[in-house]
Amino acid sequence: MNPALSALDALQEVDHAIARIEREFRALDSGAKEKDEYDRLRVAYDDAAQTLHAIERDRRDAELELSAVETKKQDHEKKLYSGSVRNPKELDAMQHEIEALGRQRSRLDGLILELMERGEEQSRVVSELHAEMEAARSAYEAKSQAYSAATRRLRTEMAKLQRMREERSAAVPPGPLKRYESIRAAKHGIGLARIEQGQCRACNTSLPKNTVLSVRDTDALLTCESCGRLLYLAPEGGEHPH
Ligand SMILES: [Zn+2]
Repeated sequence: MNPALSALDALQEVDHAIARIEREFRALDSGAKEKDEYDRLRVAYDDAAQTLHAIERDRRDAELELSAVETKKQDHEKKLYSGSVRNPKELDAMQHEIEALGRQRSRLDGLILELMERGEEQSRVVSELHAEMEAARSAYEAKSQAYSAATRRLRTEMAKLQRMREERSAAVPPGPLKRYESIRAAKHGIGLARIEQGQCRACNTSLPKNTVLSVRDTDALLTCESCGRLLYLAPEGGEHPH
């Protein structure tokens, strides 16, 4: 048998391992879904917190306005009952002003009450969203950490396999190596097929007896007529030669 074939078999073993690592890489979950959920909740939480802030600001404004209205009303009442104003027209105007201030005060009382209720409701919304956001953050962080750990592990394995691949391909003469690579590129990453029980293991086609014998007894590099892969006869017992 051509000695390049057992060297190619050893190389293909590494190529299978590399392909497996690549599949594992593709299957890794980076936590994109968890990140989207966390981002969504963070925006919702920020919006809700801003709304709460606006409600509280409006309430403080209304309280300041109420306090100003009350002061003004008390001043007018003091003046009205002090007897210092005697002109009936002036008294009438003052009475009206006091009434207007009274209406303003009840409007502000109502507004403040409403803003307090809305503030309480909004506080509940904010704390619920905060809890959901924190849960989403933990879920995302857990996924993300698992992803990083898996990525590190796979990179280490991959680096090891690539060094092994370099060594093993260096052991194959350039001609057979080139053939293996081009068949591999065309045939789903498998360039070499073992012969087992007179069959090509890659496509399960029965091989002509003289093909099997030529592989075994000569230096010829033969391919399977059915799948086009290089044929290799594993040593007796199917043991790996390495
Ligand atoms: Zn085949």
